[in-house]
Parts: sequence; C-alpha cells; structure tokens
Amino acid sequence: MTEEVTTVFEAKELSMGCRKYEARLEDYLNGAPDAKLESHLASCARCRAALEDARLAGTWLREAWEPFGEPRGAFAAGVAARIRAAEAEAASPTAFWRPIELLASRIALTAATVLLALSAYLYKYAPLKSDAPPATSSDAAATYFPQPPAQPTGIEELAATLNARSNGR
Ligand SMILES: [Zn+2]
Repeated sequence: MTEEVTTVFEAKELSMGCRKYEARLEDYLNGAPDAKLESHLASCARCRAALEDARLAGTWLREAWEPFGEPRGAFAAGVAARIRAAEAEAASPTAFWRPIELLASRIALTAATVLLALSAYLYKYAPLKSDAPPATSSDAAATYFPQPPAQPTGIEELAATLNARSNGR
C-alpha cells in the first residue's frame, strides 16, 4: 500500500538506499550477521522481497544442481566401464588382429570404390571406343581383329555409317 503512494522521488531515494543493502543480501543469506540490513529489512518490503527472491533462487539452483548428482555419477561409471572394457579388449589375444581386420575392411572398401569408379568409367567411355575403330581401321585389320558392330546412336551417325559402307574401299 505505501509503495503505491510513494512519489517518484521517494521511490528513487528508496532504491538508492536499497542498492547498498542489495549487495549485502547474498552475504546475509550465506550467514554473515548484518544488523543494519536486518533493521532495513524490517522497514523495507522491497528488500524483504529481494531477499526472498535471492533465497528462492538459491534453493532452485541447488535443486536444479542436485538431480545432476546421480546421472553424473552414472555417466562417470559408464565411461569408466567402457574404458575398462576397452582395456580388457586390448589385453585379449584377439586384440592383435583388430588393426588388421580394420585394415582389411579398409582395403575392401577401397577396392569396391575403385571397382565402382572403373565400371562407371567403362560405362561412360567404352561405347565411344567401340564406335571409333571401324572408321579408321582397314578391312584387313577388321578381319584380323573382329570388332563388335558399331552401334549408331543417332540418325546422323547411322547415315554416316551407311554412306561409308556404300562408298567402300
Ligand atoms: Zn530496501
């Protein structure tokens, strides 16, 4: 009620006076005796509210922090267990083969990649190569090295092929 009737000037004075106490609220909450602050709190609802807010914030912080205690412990235990498992695995007789297995799988992967690239290359360039020789090779060469029949891919190429055959040498 009194806060609502205070003038702007009074409110400013009040806040200026409260500011120096606000800095001491934390120490007071932590148990530092502060008689002046206590007497101010008795007369200042604003600082009492601030003190209560600070106390609540502290409680919430602790509540928010403490649930982490269990999962953190569980997480640390999980990490420790994983480290122990890795150590046990490293000490086991089959551990020697692990890098080789890894290398083998890497080589297999590389081989597969090369094969894929090669098949893509062949798919892309092989038809062009089979098309090219009949135009340049002689008939004799063609008989000694039989070529698969060229496969014209367009009407112009078909016409060129027919034209070359009818002109014959
Ligand atoms: Zn105050």
